[in-house]
Amino acid sequence: MIVATTVEQVRAQVREWKSAGLTVGLVPTMGYLHEGHASLIDTARANCDRVVASVFVNPTQFGEGEDLDSYPRDFEHDCALLEEHGADMVFHPSVDEMYPDGGGQTATFVEILNDMPKQLCGKTRPIHFRGVCTVVSKLFNIVTPDKAFFGQKDAQQLAIIRRMVRDLSYGIQIVGCPIVREEDGLAKSSRNTYLSAEERAAALCLSRAVFLGQDLVAQGEKSADAVVDAMVASIQAEPLARIDYVSAVDGVTMEPVHTFDGTVLVAMAVYIGSTRLIDNFIVEA
Ligand code: AMP
Repeated sequence: MIVATTVEQVRAQVREWKSAGLTVGLVPTMGYLHEGHASLIDTARANCDRVVASVFVNPTQFGEGEDLDSYPRDFEHDCALLEEHGADMVFHPSVDEMYPDGGGQTATFVEILNDMPKQLCGKTRPIHFRGVCTVVSKLFNIVTPDKAFFGQKDAQQLAIIRRMVRDLSYGIQIVGCPIVREEDGLAKSSRNTYLSAEERAAALCLSRAVFLGQDLVAQGEKSADAVVDAMVASIQAEPLARIDYVSAVDGVTMEPVHTFDGTVLVAMAVYIGSTRLIDNFIVEA
């Protein structure tokens, strides 16, 4: 596996692959990789001739007081996992390589100006999706992939990237990949490492709420409000949990909905102690 740290290295290699007629898949990550990320690599591997993963903790998507400095990092372990899953190249740039103004500063952002980034996670993370769109645009410009792979775990991010790709005419196919869970149900996340043993047990209230919501829908519940209410009540039974939001929104626009009609995303963010975790499910009606 090629380890590239500069934009130029990536461009030169991708040029070579493309001139040989090979297709390129991109899997953007912030590292501290787990089986959720591995599933994206596997899907990319199955869909593209060459697979590039990026490992970059992007400063522009973290707000004041968020976990930019403490975000877990283990590049050696990441390389081992990527190699095992057949990635051809990992792009691991410094902050200055990605943001030449230094210190993660940039004068140019890519930002969706409708309400999509203001819903759900956007309410507590107002600059988050501007940072995500900016760094993903940069990665698209650097790697010029044919396809890019994102997890359904970050459902709002996936919807926003799809919109950005449409609005900016990136000729890149966006592939969404299902949520990978621990055996007991907890969605895999690099941030799970922040949890104490007691918090790890409490964190199961998120996936329990997802499964409860899915059961209610399977039993024929048509009211998204009723499903959300039941999920809220079940999470509130966990003393270590503090709900940021539990919401049902249109799966494409992220606008709030009250009934299941078309594609609906039921998503949540819940603090377990000081760790903010997310989970969700999609309902197709
Ligand atoms: P991150 O490193 O957290 O920025 O995530 C990088 C990519 O991996 C994003 O597209 C995430 O949605 C995806 N991802 C993270 N956790 C999971 C998971 N448990 N299942 C599926 N995809 C995931």
